[in-house]
Parts: sequence; structure tokens; C-alpha cells
Amino acid sequence: MTGTDLVERAAAGLKDRSGRPPAGVWSAPGRANLIGEHTDYNDGFVFPFAIDRRAAVALGDRDDRAVRVSSSFAPDPVVVHLDELDPDAQHGWSAYPLGVVWALREFGADLAHARGVDLHLESDVPVGAGLSSSAAIESAVALALNEHWGLGFDRPTLAQVGRLAENRVVGAPTGILDQSAALLAEADAGVFLDCRSLDAEVVPLHFAEAGLAVLVVDTRVEHAHATGGYAARRSSCEAGARALGVPSLRELPERELPRARELLDDETFRRVRHVVTENRRVLDTVRALHEGGPATIGALLDASHASMRDDFEISTPELDLAVETTRAAGAIGARMTGGGFGGSAIALVPLARVEEAAGAVRAAFAAAGHREPGTFTVVPSPGARRER
Ligand code: ADP
Ligand code: MG
Repeated sequence: MTGTDLVERAAAGLKDRSGRPPAGVWSAPGRANLIGEHTDYNDGFVFPFAIDRRAAVALGDRDDRAVRVSSSFAPDPVVVHLDELDPDAQHGWSAYPLGVVWALREFGADLAHARGVDLHLESDVPVGAGLSSSAAIESAVALALNEHWGLGFDRPTLAQVGRLAENRVVGAPTGILDQSAALLAEADAGVFLDCRSLDAEVVPLHFAEAGLAVLVVDTRVEHAHATGGYAARRSSCEAGARALGVPSLRELPERELPRARELLDDETFRRVRHVVTENRRVLDTVRALHEGGPATIGALLDASHASMRDDFEISTPELDLAVETTRAAGAIGARMTGGGFGGSAIALVPLARVEEAAGAVRAAFAAAGHREPGTFTVVPSPGARRER
């Protein structure tokens, strides 16, 4: 499905449902995190890039003050009056777009005189694959409403709007990584984000120029303990920071790790060591890209995966197999990406060996009795934008 088709589908979907052509269509991408996992809520560094799979929202005017959201994802639209948006009353998929409307108001949007809108969603971002289909929806809707209602928020603020919607209305305690990627990304580049200051730097990736492609392996496995495991990792990090007397693990220098080992139980220590070394690996990756280009970051990706597998313990047999198999088939580096306990891995593979690596992964999954994985390449892509 090409981008144009996606925009056409969104426009046609809106017209079918409302009888009117859209006033505009906006889109936002999913993302892959190149490196920097579970560092965002520790005030640390992350380095995602937007992928060439997007969500689109077609927006139509209404004569009343209702917001009606529909999606090809769901059979029925959901309608809420602008004056009756209750953050506790939204459930399921509509919590994402309606959460954004609520969050815009929390950030000071004056909607007292706004007219209602019809919103229709279409997306090519695989759901639940760790590529953030949720932030793609939130970011497309946030940018659409910001422009349509003339709210004047900048993109970093819209990222915070998306996060608030996801935290408060959907109820997922996620960081700012996904929305920042969806809103701040540029083509052929990654977004190096300091999650404490929210300073973002767009860093050129130039994978193709270096003869490399990013192969995604979607394990299609979401483990039952994903939510509980995420919460448990967050509290381990908080406990570690508290015991070590730092406001966040971002403030813990790597040279303090020997002291941390003495003070903390083994499990908490390993959680802390992952975060501290992962922050350093993000900085090293940015420097390596500036100095040597993408061919020089493979070992950092590998080290990141090992740290998530052994210290943070958020990998799975499927993710480990994806990483090992792509490496054996010529990838210069590979790691699981996203929160863990399932989802996707990424591998940096020489262009000429992509087919071979993807085939090797499918064969290895079959031999191990795992579900057939999704294998596809992604290209670092532009962030949210108006399409028409
Ligand atoms: P991901 O890793 O893909 O972000 P999440 O569980 O965070 O996984 O978000 C997936 C959820 O986002 C879906 O269950 C659905 O509620 C919502 N969503 C994603 N794409 C769409 C869409 N096209 N239309 C409506 N809701 C969507
Ligand atoms: Mg998500």
C-alpha cells in the first residue's frame, strides 16, 4: 500500500461515512527505536526514527459541536460532544483520538467556540508490533486538530499532548519517545531526544548511502506479562535511583556502577546497569554516526540487545532468535526494539543480503516451532504532515 493510497482511503472513508469530502487529510508515521530502550522514563536519551508506514486522518467539518471518530479498524464510529469529554469514559481504540481532543484542552486549547469534526482513521502501521501504531494515530490527530482549529501549538507540545492522551485517557504509562518520533522526524534521519530537557536533534542516518537497510522482524508475539513487566521495570528503576540518592538514573555516572553493585540487590543492580550503559550507548551511536556513518554502529546495537536480554530481561526467545539469525546472515548489528516482551527486532543488513536474512529468520522460526514472523524493511521517513 503506497502513501497516496492511504491518503485516498482516509478521504474516501470519511466521505462514505459523513457524505462530505474532507477539509484536509493529515498523516503521521510509526517509528522504530534505533537505540535507547527504557531510558525515556529515566530522564535519559532515546534515538528513534520514523518509518515509511503511516496513519492518516481525514477531517471533515460538522455543523454541531460533536466529534465523531471512525476507523477501518473498528465497525462503529464513536461520537462525543465537545463539552462532554470525560477522560475516564473512553475505552478501546477511540480513547486514542478522543484522548488527544481532551489533552489539547488540558494544554490550554480554547474550544469554547470550536465547531465539531468528523475524523476518519486509516493506518498501515502494524498494530501491536512495537512500531507505535498508537502514537501514529495520536500524532496525526493532534496535528490535524492543531491546524484545523488554529490552536498554534508547536510540535514538541503536540508530542506532549499525545503522551498525555495515552497516559491519562488510554491509561498506558508510556514516555515521550513515540510521539516525538512521529512529530519531529525527518526523512533519512533519526531523532536524538534528551527526555529530561526534551531537546531534540535530527541526526542524519544515511543507511542506503552506506549500502545498508533496516530489516524489521515482527515476532507477532505479545507476551502476557508485557504490561506487568513494563511496570515492574519502571519501579525497579525508581527503587534503584532512590537507593543511590539520584533523582533519576540519568544522573548516575557509569563510574558509579561499582558502588551501585555494592548497595543494590543483584536484580535491581542489573536493571540500573542497563539504563546507565544504554544512555551511554545512545550518545556513542550519535557520535559514531556523525564521525563514521552507519557502518560503525553495529556493535552498539548488539551490545544494546545483550543488555536488554541479560540485564533488563525484557527480550523473548523469538526476539533473541531474530537477532542471532540476522547477525549470522550478514547483519552488522541487531537488537529488539520497543518495550520488549514481544514486538519487533531490527537488524542493519547490507542491501544485497536482505532477502537472505529475512529468509533465514523465517526458516529459523519454523524450525523452532515459533509463529511465522513478519519480515519487511523500513526507511527512515518524514514526521507528521498535512497531505492535502
Ligand atoms: P503499538 O505498539 O502498535 O503502538 P499499542 O497497544 O500501543 O500498540 O496501540 C495499539 C492500539 O492503537 C490499537 O489496539 C488501537 O486501539 C489503536 N490503533 C492503532 N491503529 C489504529 C487505527 N488504524 N484505528 C483505530 N485505532 C488504532
Ligand atoms: Mg503504542
